[in-house]
Amino acid sequence: MKNLGYYNGKTGLIEEVTVPITDRAFYFGDGVYDAVMCRNNIPYLLYEHINRIFDNAELLGITPPKTKEELKHLITELCPLVDGEEKFVYFQISRGSGIRNHEFTNTKGNLCIMIKPQKIEKVYDKVDVCSTKDIRFHMCNIKTLNLLPSVLSAQHAKNNKCEETVFVRDGYVTECSHSNISILKDGTLITAPADNHILPGVTRAHLILAARKHGIAVREEKYTLNDLINADEIIVTSSSKMAKGVKRVDSKNVGGKDEKNLRLLQEEIYGDYINETNLNTRK
Ligand code: PLP
Repeated sequence: MKNLGYYNGKTGLIEEVTVPITDRAFYFGDGVYDAVMCRNNIPYLLYEHINRIFDNAELLGITPPKTKEELKHLITELCPLVDGEEKFVYFQISRGSGIRNHEFTNTKGNLCIMIKPQKIEKVYDKVDVCSTKDIRFHMCNIKTLNLLPSVLSAQHAKNNKCEETVFVRDGYVTECSHSNISILKDGTLITAPADNHILPGVTRAHLILAARKHGIAVREEKYTLNDLINADEIIVTSSSKMAKGVKRVDSKNVGGKDEKNLRLLQEEIYGDYINETNLNTRK
Protein backbone atom coordinates (compact mmCIF):
# COMPACT_ATOMS: atom_id res chain seq x y z
CA MET A 1 0.00 0.00 0.00
CA LYS A 2 1.17 3.56 -0.60
CA ASN A 3 0.11 4.46 2.98
CA LEU A 4 -2.19 3.13 5.68
CA GLY A 5 -4.90 4.54 7.90
CA TYR A 6 -6.42 2.62 10.81
CA TYR A 7 -9.42 3.62 12.91
CA ASN A 8 -10.84 1.32 15.61
CA GLY A 9 -10.13 -1.87 13.65
CA LYS A 10 -10.84 -0.58 10.13
CA THR A 11 -7.95 -0.11 7.72
CA GLY A 12 -7.54 1.49 4.31
CA LEU A 13 -5.71 4.31 2.60
CA ILE A 14 -5.27 7.38 4.82
CA GLU A 15 -7.28 9.42 2.32
CA GLU A 16 -10.18 6.97 2.57
CA VAL A 17 -10.52 5.96 6.24
CA THR A 18 -13.18 8.13 7.87
CA VAL A 19 -13.80 9.18 11.46
CA PRO A 20 -17.30 9.76 12.92
CA ILE A 21 -18.05 13.36 13.83
CA THR A 22 -18.83 12.15 17.38
CA ASP A 23 -15.11 11.45 18.04
CA ARG A 24 -14.06 13.98 20.70
CA ALA A 25 -10.75 14.42 18.86
CA PHE A 26 -12.76 16.09 16.12
CA TYR A 27 -14.41 18.89 18.09
CA PHE A 28 -12.32 19.18 21.31
CA GLY A 29 -8.88 17.89 20.29
CA ASP A 30 -9.56 15.68 23.32
CA GLY A 31 -6.85 13.10 22.91
CA VAL A 32 -3.17 12.27 22.93
CA TYR A 33 -0.80 11.15 20.21
CA ASP A 34 2.71 9.94 19.56
CA ALA A 35 4.91 9.26 16.57
CA VAL A 36 7.99 7.23 15.62
CA MET A 37 10.16 6.67 12.60
CA CYS A 38 10.35 3.17 11.19
CA ARG A 39 13.14 1.64 9.16
CA ASN A 40 13.07 -1.85 7.65
CA ASN A 41 9.76 -2.30 9.47
CA ILE A 42 11.36 -1.74 12.86
CA PRO A 43 9.74 1.27 14.57
CA TYR A 44 12.54 3.04 16.42
CA LEU A 45 12.19 3.06 20.23
CA LEU A 46 8.52 2.13 19.85
CA TYR A 47 8.03 0.96 23.41
CA GLU A 48 9.22 4.29 24.85
CA HIS A 49 6.63 6.10 22.74
CA ILE A 50 3.91 3.64 23.73
CA ASN A 51 4.81 4.16 27.38
CA ARG A 52 4.51 7.91 26.85
CA ILE A 53 1.10 7.79 25.16
CA PHE A 54 -0.21 5.57 27.97
CA ASP A 55 1.24 7.90 30.63
CA ASN A 56 -0.31 10.90 28.83
CA ALA A 57 -3.68 9.14 28.51
CA GLU A 58 -3.62 8.38 32.24
CA LEU A 59 -2.82 12.02 33.10
CA LEU A 60 -5.97 13.05 31.20
CA GLY A 61 -8.20 10.20 32.39
CA ILE A 62 -8.42 8.66 28.89
CA THR A 63 -8.87 4.88 28.69
CA PRO A 64 -6.86 3.35 25.81
CA PRO A 65 -8.82 0.72 23.87
CA LYS A 66 -5.82 -1.63 23.80
CA THR A 67 -3.05 -2.73 26.15
CA LYS A 68 0.52 -1.56 25.53
CA GLU A 69 1.46 -5.00 24.19
CA GLU A 70 -1.57 -5.08 21.87
CA LEU A 71 -0.72 -1.63 20.50
CA LYS A 72 2.91 -2.61 19.95
CA HIS A 73 1.81 -5.79 18.19
CA LEU A 74 -0.70 -3.92 16.00
CA ILE A 75 1.79 -1.24 14.90
CA THR A 76 4.43 -3.88 14.20
CA GLU A 77 1.92 -5.83 12.10
CA LEU A 78 0.71 -2.77 10.14
CA CYS A 79 4.15 -1.34 9.26
CA PRO A 80 5.08 -3.97 6.63
CA LEU A 81 1.78 -3.32 4.78
CA VAL A 82 3.10 0.08 3.65
CA ASP A 83 5.57 0.23 0.76
CA GLY A 84 9.10 1.46 1.28
CA GLU A 85 11.97 1.16 3.68
CA GLU A 86 11.57 4.33 5.73
CA LYS A 87 8.23 5.29 7.24
CA PHE A 88 6.59 7.60 9.71
CA VAL A 89 4.15 6.06 12.17
CA TYR A 90 1.59 8.29 13.92
CA PHE A 91 -0.85 7.00 16.54
CA GLN A 92 -3.52 8.80 18.53
CA ILE A 93 -5.99 7.90 21.23
CA SER A 94 -8.97 10.17 21.77
CA ARG A 95 -11.16 10.08 24.85
CA GLY A 96 -13.99 8.41 22.93
CA SER A 97 -17.19 9.38 21.19
CA GLY A 98 -20.41 11.12 22.09
CA ILE A 99 -22.71 14.02 21.30
CA ARG A 100 -20.75 17.22 21.94
CA ASN A 101 -20.64 17.89 25.67
CA HIS A 102 -17.59 19.18 27.57
CA GLU A 103 -17.75 16.68 30.45
CA PHE A 104 -16.08 13.29 29.91
CA THR A 105 -17.88 10.54 28.05
CA ASN A 106 -17.86 7.13 29.69
CA THR A 107 -16.44 5.34 26.68
CA LYS A 108 -13.16 3.68 25.81
CA GLY A 109 -10.77 5.70 23.70
CA ASN A 110 -10.72 5.65 19.89
CA LEU A 111 -7.47 4.48 18.31
CA CYS A 112 -6.26 6.00 15.08
CA ILE A 113 -2.99 5.07 13.33
CA MET A 114 -1.43 6.53 10.18
CA ILE A 115 1.65 5.13 8.46
CA LYS A 116 3.24 6.80 5.45
CA PRO A 117 6.58 6.59 3.64
CA GLN A 118 8.98 9.24 4.92
CA LYS A 119 12.70 9.54 4.37
CA ILE A 120 14.90 9.52 7.43
CA GLU A 121 16.44 13.00 7.73
CA LYS A 122 20.10 13.62 7.04
CA VAL A 123 21.04 13.92 10.67
CA TYR A 124 24.40 15.63 10.15
CA ASP A 125 22.97 18.54 8.09
CA LYS A 126 22.58 21.69 10.19
CA VAL A 127 19.34 23.69 10.08
CA ASP A 128 18.12 27.27 10.51
CA VAL A 129 15.62 28.19 13.22
CA CYS A 130 13.72 31.35 14.17
CA SER A 131 12.36 32.41 17.54
CA THR A 132 8.84 33.33 18.58
CA LYS A 133 6.88 33.87 21.78
CA ASP A 134 5.69 30.67 23.42
CA ILE A 135 1.94 31.25 23.52
CA ARG A 136 1.04 27.67 24.39
CA PHE A 137 -0.86 26.63 27.50
CA HIS A 138 0.67 25.15 30.67
CA MET A 139 0.33 21.44 29.84
CA CYS A 140 3.10 21.15 27.26
CA ASN A 141 4.41 18.05 29.05
CA ILE A 142 1.37 16.13 27.70
CA LYS A 143 1.36 15.34 23.99
CA THR A 144 -2.23 16.41 23.38
CA LEU A 145 -3.95 17.03 20.06
CA ASN A 146 -4.33 20.73 20.90
CA LEU A 147 -1.59 22.00 18.60
CA LEU A 148 -2.79 25.33 17.23
CA PRO A 149 0.20 27.40 18.50
CA SER A 150 2.55 24.72 17.12
CA VAL A 151 0.78 24.78 13.76
CA LEU A 152 1.03 28.59 13.59
CA SER A 153 4.68 28.58 14.57
CA ALA A 154 5.57 25.77 12.14
CA GLN A 155 4.09 27.95 9.39
CA HIS A 156 6.04 30.94 10.78
CA ALA A 157 9.22 28.83 10.42
CA LYS A 158 8.30 27.88 6.87
CA ASN A 159 7.58 31.50 5.93
CA ASN A 160 11.04 32.40 7.24
CA LYS A 161 12.67 29.49 5.36
CA CYS A 162 13.55 27.85 8.67
CA GLU A 163 13.24 24.26 9.80
CA GLU A 164 11.89 25.02 13.25
CA THR A 165 10.61 27.75 15.54
CA VAL A 166 12.18 28.21 18.97
CA PHE A 167 9.67 29.08 21.67
CA VAL A 168 10.66 31.70 24.25
CA ARG A 169 8.56 32.03 27.40
CA ASP A 170 9.25 34.77 29.97
CA GLY A 171 12.71 35.28 28.50
CA TYR A 172 13.69 31.60 28.52
CA VAL A 173 13.92 29.09 25.69
CA THR A 174 11.47 26.24 26.27
CA GLU A 175 11.49 24.04 23.16
CA CYS A 176 10.51 24.17 19.47
CA SER A 177 7.14 23.70 17.77
CA HIS A 178 7.75 19.97 17.37
CA SER A 179 11.20 19.30 18.84
CA ASN A 180 13.26 19.89 21.97
CA ILE A 181 16.29 22.17 21.81
CA SER A 182 19.48 21.96 23.87
CA ILE A 183 22.86 23.66 23.82
CA LEU A 184 26.48 22.68 24.30
CA LYS A 185 28.46 25.34 26.16
CA ASP A 186 32.00 24.87 27.51
CA GLY A 187 31.64 21.10 27.25
CA THR A 188 28.30 20.99 29.14
CA LEU A 189 24.93 20.03 27.73
CA ILE A 190 22.24 22.46 28.87
CA THR A 191 18.57 21.73 28.26
CA ALA A 192 15.37 23.25 29.62
CA PRO A 193 14.03 21.37 32.66
CA ALA A 194 11.33 18.78 32.02
CA ASP A 195 8.54 20.79 33.63
CA ASN A 196 5.06 21.57 32.30
CA HIS A 197 6.44 23.91 29.61
CA ILE A 198 8.20 21.30 27.49
CA LEU A 199 7.43 17.87 26.17
CA PRO A 200 9.91 15.42 27.71
CA GLY A 201 11.09 14.10 24.35
CA VAL A 202 12.23 10.52 23.95
CA THR A 203 15.15 11.84 21.85
CA ARG A 204 15.99 14.45 24.51
CA ALA A 205 16.17 11.63 27.08
CA HIS A 206 18.56 9.72 24.80
CA LEU A 207 20.62 12.88 24.24
CA ILE A 208 21.04 13.23 28.01
CA LEU A 209 22.00 9.55 28.34
CA ALA A 210 24.48 9.89 25.46
CA ALA A 211 26.08 12.95 27.06
CA ARG A 212 26.46 11.24 30.44
CA LYS A 213 27.89 8.13 28.78
CA HIS A 214 30.59 10.26 27.15
CA GLY A 215 31.43 12.25 30.27
CA ILE A 216 29.69 15.44 29.09
CA ALA A 217 28.12 17.20 32.11
CA VAL A 218 24.35 17.75 31.85
CA ARG A 219 22.45 20.67 33.36
CA GLU A 220 18.66 20.61 33.07
CA GLU A 221 18.08 24.31 33.65
CA LYS A 222 16.56 27.38 32.05
CA TYR A 223 18.58 29.29 29.47
CA THR A 224 17.86 32.44 27.46
CA LEU A 225 17.70 33.24 23.74
CA ASN A 226 21.04 35.03 24.22
CA ASP A 227 22.53 31.82 25.67
CA LEU A 228 21.19 29.99 22.63
CA ILE A 229 22.78 32.43 20.21
CA ASN A 230 26.10 32.28 22.06
CA ALA A 231 26.15 28.49 22.48
CA ASP A 232 29.04 26.43 21.14
CA GLU A 233 26.49 24.16 19.45
CA ILE A 234 22.70 23.95 19.38
CA ILE A 235 20.96 20.59 19.07
CA VAL A 236 17.33 20.19 17.94
CA THR A 237 15.94 16.76 18.82
CA SER A 238 12.83 14.83 17.86
CA SER A 239 11.91 11.39 16.61
CA SER A 240 11.45 12.62 13.06
CA LYS A 241 14.21 15.28 12.90
CA MET A 242 16.53 13.12 15.03
CA ALA A 243 19.37 15.24 16.50
CA LYS A 244 20.38 18.12 14.29
CA GLY A 245 22.83 20.94 14.75
CA VAL A 246 21.76 24.54 14.06
CA LYS A 247 23.60 26.98 11.81
CA ARG A 248 21.45 30.12 12.14
CA VAL A 249 19.07 31.53 14.74
CA ASP A 250 16.96 34.47 13.51
CA SER A 251 19.40 34.79 10.56
CA LYS A 252 22.46 35.09 12.87
CA ASN A 253 25.24 32.53 12.43
CA VAL A 254 25.57 30.34 15.50
CA GLY A 255 27.42 27.29 16.82
CA GLY A 256 30.22 25.57 14.98
CA LYS A 257 32.47 25.66 18.06
CA ASP A 258 32.09 22.12 19.40
CA GLU A 259 31.43 19.93 16.40
CA LYS A 260 33.35 17.06 17.96
CA ASN A 261 30.88 16.66 20.83
CA LEU A 262 27.89 17.38 18.58
CA ARG A 263 28.91 14.55 16.26
CA LEU A 264 29.67 12.25 19.19
CA LEU A 265 26.15 12.76 20.57
CA GLN A 266 24.48 12.36 17.15
CA GLU A 267 26.35 9.13 16.55
CA GLU A 268 25.61 7.80 20.02
CA ILE A 269 21.85 8.31 19.56
CA TYR A 270 21.44 7.56 15.87
CA GLY A 271 24.63 6.02 14.52
CA ASP A 272 23.35 2.44 14.83
CA TYR A 273 20.03 3.37 13.33
CA ILE A 274 21.47 5.26 10.41
CA ASN A 275 24.10 2.64 9.75
CA GLU A 276 21.56 -0.16 10.20
CA THR A 277 23.61 -2.11 12.71
CA ASN A 278 22.39 -3.36 16.08
CA LEU A 279 18.82 -2.50 15.09
CA ASN A 280 17.45 -5.30 17.17
CA THR A 281 18.84 -3.83 20.37
CA ARG A 282 16.95 -0.61 19.63
CA LYS A 283 13.42 -1.98 19.27
N1 PLP B 1 8.59 18.86 21.76
C1 PLP B 1 7.44 18.89 21.05
C2 PLP B 1 6.51 20.03 21.24
C3 PLP B 1 7.14 17.85 20.15
O1 PLP B 1 5.97 17.88 19.45
C4 PLP B 1 8.07 16.80 19.98
C5 PLP B 1 7.81 15.70 19.05
O2 PLP B 1 6.87 15.64 18.32
C6 PLP B 1 9.26 16.82 20.72
C7 PLP B 1 9.47 17.86 21.60
C8 PLP B 1 10.28 15.73 20.57
O3 PLP B 1 9.83 14.55 21.17
P1 PLP B 1 10.39 13.14 20.71
O4 PLP B 1 11.88 13.21 20.82
O5 PLP B 1 9.82 12.18 21.72
O6 PLP B 1 9.93 12.89 19.35
